[in-house]
Amino acid sequence: ALSDRLGNTFDRLRGRGALREQDVRDVMREVRIALLEADVALPVARDFIEKVTEKAVGEAVLKSVTPGQQVVKIVNDELVAMLGGGDGEDGHVPLTLEAKPPVVIMMVGLQGSGKTTSTAKLAKLIREKHGKKAMMASLDVNRPAAQEQLAVLGEQAQVDTLPIIEGQQPVDIARRALESAKLRNVDVVLLDTAGRLHVDEALMAEMKAVASVATPTEVLLVVDSLTGQDAVNVAQSFSDEVPLTGVILTRMDGDARGGAALSMRAVTGKPIKFAGVGEKLDALEAFHPRRVAERILGMGDVVSLVEKAAETIKVEEAEALAKRMAKGQFDLNDLRMQLQQMQKMGGLGMLAGMMPGMKKAKAAMQASGMDDKVLVHMDAIMGSMTAKERANPALLNAKRKKRVAAGSGTQVQDVNKVLKMHQEMSRAMKQIKKMGGMKGLAAMLG
Ligand code: GDP
Ligand code: MG
Repeated sequence: ALSDRLGNTFDRLRGRGALREQDVRDVMREVRIALLEADVALPVARDFIEKVTEKAVGEAVLKSVTPGQQVVKIVNDELVAMLGGGDGEDGHVPLTLEAKPPVVIMMVGLQGSGKTTSTAKLAKLIREKHGKKAMMASLDVNRPAAQEQLAVLGEQAQVDTLPIIEGQQPVDIARRALESAKLRNVDVVLLDTAGRLHVDEALMAEMKAVASVATPTEVLLVVDSLTGQDAVNVAQSFSDEVPLTGVILTRMDGDARGGAALSMRAVTGKPIKFAGVGEKLDALEAFHPRRVAERILGMGDVVSLVEKAAETIKVEEAEALAKRMAKGQFDLNDLRMQLQQMQKMGGLGMLAGMMPGMKKAKAAMQASGMDDKVLVHMDAIMGSMTAKERANPALLNAKRKKRVAAGSGTQVQDVNKVLKMHQEMSRAMKQIKKMGGMKGLAAMLG
């Protein structure tokens, strides 16, 4: 596992300050091997490493973990983000089923990828877990008995299938499926399309024609996770031709190591929504980026260790900040840290309950037209200042302000707004100090 190989690297990397490029590169060399061993496509692995390296170099080093461990955490977070990073459990991106019924889900993919099986699995899940009325239709007129296969699976899944009419073409079947679904008050129609052994023009033309008739809410590409590099090429072709909304990775019960998932996501830009983990109809799992990242890196323990260390740091930082604030010292470095924490903790709404002084600060922020979107801008603005400027905002003359505005893609007046807000907050802090510091304030507020 990556953890074993990184053991040595970790021991070598001990230090303080910011993560150095060499530290990061050392870990990245091992991560690269882990990615390739997990079947991540080479260009995807290369891009990924570049992106993470850029992100990690210069990051402040946390106490109580080694820089190497910290880099792994960054790698892990970036993996999760790249794998999906939805709002569901462990980053899952759910199906969109709330559109006007009948909601159409179109399944596309190569022959043998697991489309028909996945269609039935999904229909069963929609009936059982979402409590919706589903219907399936097979548009596969190429393969003999393909339509019968879906009918048999439909019986197992207890989901109706559109009656078969010999000789009807895919587009007409799609039309008929929609009509039937409307008549029968079906919530979700699943269209199982034909595949080919390879991507070809006829297949793509058929997919496009079906999509334009059926106007699907979801177009799910079904790919076999065991086909490695091939799967990536297939995903690329489909993604160029039909508007995909997600991916289903099948045969994740085999020895797939999760790498295909990363490549798939990178190539299509679409989230992997489900993983097929067997032939049976209940062998379909919501895809969980966090768990797959763990599968690729095998570093769950390191990740939670670093999370804990980061928590400790936050508490220490907050205490140091509280002390400086109590003394009436509060520069833009503090403000920036504060805003970043606020964003992590759920934005402005969270602020009021945090610290006594923050109520006033929140009022000052709102008075100067702040909302959560503005927080992101402000962070960019302060990020374009040097640490010295943040420590001593008086340095920011007109010329420097212009530079900061250009660097953050904002206007000088936006920079001024940040400075004004900081002044107002400092004033509030000083008032607090006059009133006898935080303790006095807390006592006053009861
Ligand atoms: P289609 O040609 O894309 O419609 O593929 P099918 O749905 O007919 O599946 C082809 C074969 O793969 C069948 O034998 C399925 O049982 C099998 N299969 C599909 N999904 C999975 C999966 O997630 N795991 C395993 N082990 N087998 C699967
Ligand atoms: Mg099929």
